[in-house]
Amino acid sequence: MFKKVLIANRGEIALRIIRACKELGIGTVAVYSEADRDSLHVRFADEEVCIGRGPASESYLHMQRILAAAEITNADAIHPGYGFLAENAEFSEICAHNGFVFIGPTVDNIRKMGDKASARSLMIGHGIPVIPGTESILDSEKQALAMAAGIGYPVMIKASAGGGGKGMRVVHDEKDLPRAFAVASSEAASAFGNPGLYLEKYLIRPRHVEFQVLGDRFGNVVHLGERDCSVQRRHQKLIEESPCPAMTPALRRKMGECAVEVARLIEYVGAGTVEFLLDKDMNFYFMEMNTRIQVEHPVTEMVTGLDLVKEQVAVSGGERFSFDAGKVKFNGHAIECRINAEDPRHDFRPCPGVITSFHPPGGPGIRVDTHIYASYVVPPFYDSLLAKLIAHGRDRSEAIARLRRSLDEFIIIGVPTTIDFHRTIIDDPRFISGDLDIQFLEKRS
Ligand code: ADP
Repeated sequence: MFKKVLIANRGEIALRIIRACKELGIGTVAVYSEADRDSLHVRFADEEVCIGRGPASESYLHMQRILAAAEITNADAIHPGYGFLAENAEFSEICAHNGFVFIGPTVDNIRKMGDKASARSLMIGHGIPVIPGTESILDSEKQALAMAAGIGYPVMIKASAGGGGKGMRVVHDEKDLPRAFAVASSEAASAFGNPGLYLEKYLIRPRHVEFQVLGDRFGNVVHLGERDCSVQRRHQKLIEESPCPAMTPALRRKMGECAVEVARLIEYVGAGTVEFLLDKDMNFYFMEMNTRIQVEHPVTEMVTGLDLVKEQVAVSGGERFSFDAGKVKFNGHAIECRINAEDPRHDFRPCPGVITSFHPPGGPGIRVDTHIYASYVVPPFYDSLLAKLIAHGRDRSEAIARLRRSLDEFIIIGVPTTIDFHRTIIDDPRFISGDLDIQFLEKRS
């Protein structure tokens, strides 16, 4: 097992990883930007190294500085968290060349799954159901028009290197395609350095259902149930829960087996997520595999009682799962709300600033993962996630009741947040009945 892990990230996930390492008896190194000097991940790590100025390109995305920090502190592994360098093939490769274990996907895993168009064609080749669409990158607008005519509108144009909902456009009519193609392509080029696009049928009101998978170095792969992440805004998740309210034991078996097969296809080691869309007729389609720990992993932890980050670190260190894969028990229901420093009254504009007052909720079944505290300054450089509020109950209605009262207890003053917005969503009769789909929020407003 590792002696020391460097955490190449910030915010709540850096703190989450530090906690897991501490429980495993592993030393921790935090790296931080000048803007994060007073952040809790810096305070709670055993060692810390400043790696540059606030902008991510000068710190959390700066590979050479992160490697230098790992070298001078004698770390033996690097955990990238999510975002930043978590799915960067070059970084994974450089870590390996420099003798650091990358607690994340191999170069081969990233090449196979990071490019969504090639992931799709790999799945098609192995009979995994995918959304009807193109098998490779579109080479021109003309080709896109021809493919879309074959598939039938509406279609979705997607960036092959995409993530975070960027480089994605829904097209309802042929006449709108040229413009959508151009915009998506330039958005993809500037966000990912890769303008490649592909095209899929746009599914009407499906659910987003994803399966947590875990693989070890001995060829064992398990799934740890599903998460329903249908409550989204602009294709970004806001609320996630486990189990999916529409799931049946038979469908879980089928989708779970499919997710495990996907992970096996690339001999996956570590924590990963296989994402599907599930339509009204309960047909499911592979969408993509995320080869990292995800923001929403706590809901799976709450219902399984497992610590996914500890498992992830341990399997990267060559250990077996700490639990009996055949005997995972799923207990109750968990729901997570992402609390962001955003102003819902102004189109969810990010709002950096000073947190003047902070009181997290508590009591039975409540977990809060956060890096903020009273007097913390939310920097302008990074994503706006302030905290994850996770409520667990014996069933969905108890989880909702706990979420409701804990949102009422949650006090963050100084910057606008999405707390009140979440409070109204969870009182929506459609949310309460579990009748969700990815257009749920759009249809409300
Ligand atoms: P990203 O990697 O940018 O998050 P995904 O491929 O995971 O992109 O898609 C994000 C979201 O976009 C999905 O959860 C879903 O809401 C929506 N989406 C993606 N593909 C389709 C599709 N073919 N039809 C309808 N919605 C889609």
